[in-house]
Amino acid sequence: MNKLGMGMMRLPLLDENDFTSIDYEQVNQMVDAYMDAGFNHFDTAYIYHEGMGEKAFKKCVVERYPRDSFKIATKLPLFVITEESQLEPLFAEQLENCGVEYFDYFMLHNVSGYTETAWKNVDLYSFIQNKKEEGFIKHIGISTHGNAEFLEEILFMHPELEFVLLQINYLDWEDEGIDSRKCFEVAKKYNKPVMIMEPYKGGFLADVPEEAEKIMKEYNPDRSVVSWAMRFVANLDACVVLTGASNLEQLENNIQEFKNADPLNDEELKILEDVSEIINSNITVDCTKCRYCVDTCPEEIDIAKIFDLYNKEKILNKDGNPWSQLGNAYLNYSRLPDVGLASDCSECESCIEECPQQINIPEVLKDVAKTFETEGYGFTN
Ligand code: SF4
Ligand code: SF4
Repeated sequence: MNKLGMGMMRLPLLDENDFTSIDYEQVNQMVDAYMDAGFNHFDTAYIYHEGMGEKAFKKCVVERYPRDSFKIATKLPLFVITEESQLEPLFAEQLENCGVEYFDYFMLHNVSGYTETAWKNVDLYSFIQNKKEEGFIKHIGISTHGNAEFLEEILFMHPELEFVLLQINYLDWEDEGIDSRKCFEVAKKYNKPVMIMEPYKGGFLADVPEEAEKIMKEYNPDRSVVSWAMRFVANLDACVVLTGASNLEQLENNIQEFKNADPLNDEELKILEDVSEIINSNITVDCTKCRYCVDTCPEEIDIAKIFDLYNKEKILNKDGNPWSQLGNAYLNYSRLPDVGLASDCSECESCIEECPQQINIPEVLKDVAKTFETEGYGFTN
């Protein structure tokens, strides 16, 4: 069986509108609960929490635990790389941020069409291979949101890669856009251990439509909805499943679910196919809340946040009632200082290439504006 990793992408915040306001006290508690449960794999990235993710790892793990008691995985931010000269300073900064002398796992972050400026123009693979030879990295790999064909090309060209980090969950397994199953099979074909990210699809699989929850509960009333998602990934032939818990309670539940994750039987796998069908007919935007798009937006639209509200609105307010909690939440969002509304989108399209889920963000924002920015929700022109 694989291990549970602690993904540090969506840490708890003191101010939900400020992604740098990490609640360190709670993160310390999460780290302790996670280590006490017998796990030790932490996953972060240069860009998480607007540059504070690696520093949070240092503060909450490195400064509190001996180096040989944990493993750290982080990622080179391909999004910002345009030339070779950036690599050495960036890598040195990442070591400094994390407070370590070497990384256990180091990845090129999201090798895909979205980061081709970096991997086409700069020899990233030789750089990480050299860093490994110099002793600063134990294992090199990539994370990717590319499709199976793309992954195969990379693994064929770069046999030096030792592992891959892939987005896998029961909903994306057969999804043609995400290509989870096929990517997983390609990794296996090249004998690369797989680390799994997004087992709950950014929390979405914890909050499935009522109709889907009903068939899971009818089959087994004692199993939570998230346990199905965890059992699906925990029993794949992978090496690590990253939980991206955003508070202590979620993390503790994830640990329990992981420890109790017995394999799904054929009947249960069939139920997950039915559940996926129901969810797919309900999901409006396939957003995982990774926030890669957010920093690029000149209008300061918190795309991840409002897509989340929009998805929930579409599921919970199917009848289009004139008032809804989500509409109210959107109104509250609109009152925050320095945030853009969906209708502020200028269609500059700079966000589109950042989105690993290939969402046509400005198009969706038009629908978001139509849904929320109405008189019924307190908006006036
Ligand atoms: S297209 Fe709209 S949402 Fe995307 S970056 Fe431009 S203004 Fe922001
Ligand atoms: S729209 Fe795309 S890039 Fe932005 S948060 Fe969602 S999945 Fe991530």
